Amino acid sequence: MSYLEVILPLPLPGTFTYRFSDLLYPNPQIGARVVVQFGKRKIYTGIIHSVHNETPTNYNPKEILDLVDQEPVLTLQQLQFFEWMSSYYMCTLGEVINAALPAGLKISSESILSLHPETVIEDLDLTEKEQSIINHLLSGDIKMSEVNKILDIKSPYNHVKNLKEKNAIQVFEQVKDKYAPKKETWIRLSKPHATEDGLDSLSAELEKKIKQLDVLLAYLRLVPLLESPSSNEQGISKKELTQSAISPSSLKTLIKNGVFEEWEKTVSRLDGMKASGTQQINLSPAQAQARKGILESFQSKGTVLLKGVTGSGKTEIFISLIQDILENGGQVLYLLPEIALTTQIIKRLAKVFGDQFGVFHSRYSDNERVEVWQKIQKGEFNFVVGVRSAIFLPFNDLSLIIVDEEHETSFKQYEPAPRYHARDAAIYLASIFHAKTLLATATPSLESYHNALEGKYGLVRLDERYNEAILPNVTLANLVKERKQRKIKGNFSSALIEAIERVLEKGKQAILFQNRRGYAPYLTCQNCGFIPKCPHCDVSLTFHIHQNLLICHYCGHKSEMLSSCVQCNSQELKTMSFGTEKIEEELQLLLPNARIGRMDLDTTRSKYSYQKIIDDFERGDIDVLVGTQMVSKGLDFDHVELVGVFDADRMIHFPDFRSHERAYQLIHQVSGRAGRRADQGHVVIQTNDPEQAIFSHLKRQDYESFFNREILERQQFHYPPFYRMIRITFKDNEKQVAGNAAQFYSKQIRKQLGDMRVIGPVEPMIGRIRNQYLFDITVKFEKHGLNLTALKEFLLNSRNMLLSQQLYKSVKVIFDVDPV
Ligand code: ADP
Ligand code: ZN
Ligand code: ZN
Repeated sequence: MSYLEVILPLPLPGTFTYRFSDLLYPNPQIGARVVVQFGKRKIYTGIIHSVHNETPTNYNPKEILDLVDQEPVLTLQQLQFFEWMSSYYMCTLGEVINAALPAGLKISSESILSLHPETVIEDLDLTEKEQSIINHLLSGDIKMSEVNKILDIKSPYNHVKNLKEKNAIQVFEQVKDKYAPKKETWIRLSKPHATEDGLDSLSAELEKKIKQLDVLLAYLRLVPLLESPSSNEQGISKKELTQSAISPSSLKTLIKNGVFEEWEKTVSRLDGMKASGTQQINLSPAQAQARKGILESFQSKGTVLLKGVTGSGKTEIFISLIQDILENGGQVLYLLPEIALTTQIIKRLAKVFGDQFGVFHSRYSDNERVEVWQKIQKGEFNFVVGVRSAIFLPFNDLSLIIVDEEHETSFKQYEPAPRYHARDAAIYLASIFHAKTLLATATPSLESYHNALEGKYGLVRLDERYNEAILPNVTLANLVKERKQRKIKGNFSSALIEAIERVLEKGKQAILFQNRRGYAPYLTCQNCGFIPKCPHCDVSLTFHIHQNLLICHYCGHKSEMLSSCVQCNSQELKTMSFGTEKIEEELQLLLPNARIGRMDLDTTRSKYSYQKIIDDFERGDIDVLVGTQMVSKGLDFDHVELVGVFDADRMIHFPDFRSHERAYQLIHQVSGRAGRRADQGHVVIQTNDPEQAIFSHLKRQDYESFFNREILERQQFHYPPFYRMIRITFKDNEKQVAGNAAQFYSKQIRKQLGDMRVIGPVEPMIGRIRNQYLFDITVKFEKHGLNLTALKEFLLNSRNMLLSQQLYKSVKVIFDVDPV
């Protein structure tokens, strides 16, 4: 007997020991999946972490139930990467595995109920509900998950438990593989007919059977078997053949008569790219210079920051670097922020790389994810474009990771653990392979630019736009002044409206940026001041006019729009503030002829809706595109001449030490969508306070001067990048318990860390989400001189100590390392 250390997908620390028989399972591979029982009845898929012969002394390990894979699903590099992630981000290895493995590779177990073979049902004394379960079981086993449907009650478990105690039924776990390859029916001409002579005689035979002859001709149009004999071997999907207007029943007859043969084929779910993949890249002199700079910098640095202005053609430089690596047999991972995984960039890549690369993003189904995973493992994809979770894919020979728009916050995972930052994790991942990391953006995060200036990263600048396009001209619309002059209409300044009219007259397009979705962020009763709030969270409900609903943006709670005040019955409910829907509505009233599109979370929920809006805008079917931060990311349009920015003040004054950085990046980036071709673009920012310093930087699109000012504040007030932060959140459904737990914890750690390094506990801006009350402690500490590993261990131990107190058992403690 030998033992396995198994990683289970659970928020529990450490690995778990299981026995296995060398005879049954010779040579189990590290990284392969095993099925094991955990606790009394739970069954999990675990990953083999190591194999050994040390018999545990204090307990008797269970035997594994099954070994799933002969070959590992995880590589050794992945295991190393995951261990780093769990220790750096203070979570368990199981939580990392859980995030990393596509659901399709996790084998799940499900409880199955069946009649006990030795029980005489008639002898039992059963309740009505129990009897109805038994009645169903008489005609076959049922799944636990189906029992509530059958019984039409919410918690059937008691009835099931009773039946088990009465020995009427058995409950067992059934293990099932979630991933199923996709099958299609394919057709080909059977061998004897697939020659010139064969075809001649077949045609003669079918001369009178016109419909069948049509099928044959349709097939030959699609499969030119005389020119290329192997094409018949390959055949064609039945679906494709029947699309060419043939009679399905004639096809059926031909199959029955043995003229055609059909078989089941496993096909890929991944969208085949139709592009040819032959386009050549010609870098401009400035781009070629930047490319050279990057390669030189890689000689001595693992990570290089490419700071290239918007529209400088960074993608083009990436493409040329990627080509080199693929030619030398290496692998490349290209990371993009979430939804901005723009169809635009993928189309651009397909023109060069055809279908030789994988795409990995949040809209993919589990099965699609498994297929990308497998193709990387088999070496069919050496180049993958993906969102943050693509760092978990099974690369075995990475040479380069590109993190595009590296300043984007969507690279950070918030919920659930691991709360990792894909940019930072990418740098570690690259180091495992001795690969390089290229960070790119026009507006670097303060952290990355600081690292580059300090020499920790290489720095390459690209300061001109491609093709002599010039940066847009940025102006401010003074809302206070316009309000006095009564020139404002709704939320539009006259400056902005006139600018839009001018662009539309020229047949050009505009983008309007308001970083809030919905119609109005809150309602208020004019009579008593009542504001409808979410019953589960401490936030107001947002009014969505198209659905006529009030929606909580934190938990998704929906309720009917009110016709009168709940508190005083007054009908004077007023919508306050504004979101994208309201901008859209107001603009339509102001410019009845304008064709307006909207891009926000609400209009892009289905798989292709995002692509459709972009295509419509590209084609010129939309004149003005209104949207949230989605419109700011990496998009490249030919005819956008104007960008309008709403509510800049709210972004700037958001109470967070990063609010200026975020506001700067968002506004600079969205401005960068204007005038990317021949004519200079124009940006109008609406504000109540044009004197704010940030605007002077934005007007000149001058990141450096913004940075120089902001970095001083960070240094002065002890914030990143000079200090590190770990945020610790305490959650409980009783406010007092959460608050006291945070106090208790804070006292514990202050003793060791000193008052300067511990901030809080404080109630966060939104103190309750999904009925959980929240309190935050922030640990802030100098970057050098403190042992980070020891500190994290201390914080974890202090948590264990807290949770061992009877009072605080129910509290959830969450660590967020480097919160953003
Ligand atoms: P960035 O990501 O730096 O903002 P893009 O990569 O989107 O800029 O490039 C801006 C536009 O210029 C795109 O339409 C791109 O196709 C085009 N472009 C940039 N460089 C080249 C080049 N060398 N050859 C052809 N087109 C280019
Ligand atoms: Zn009221
Ligand atoms: Zn809510």
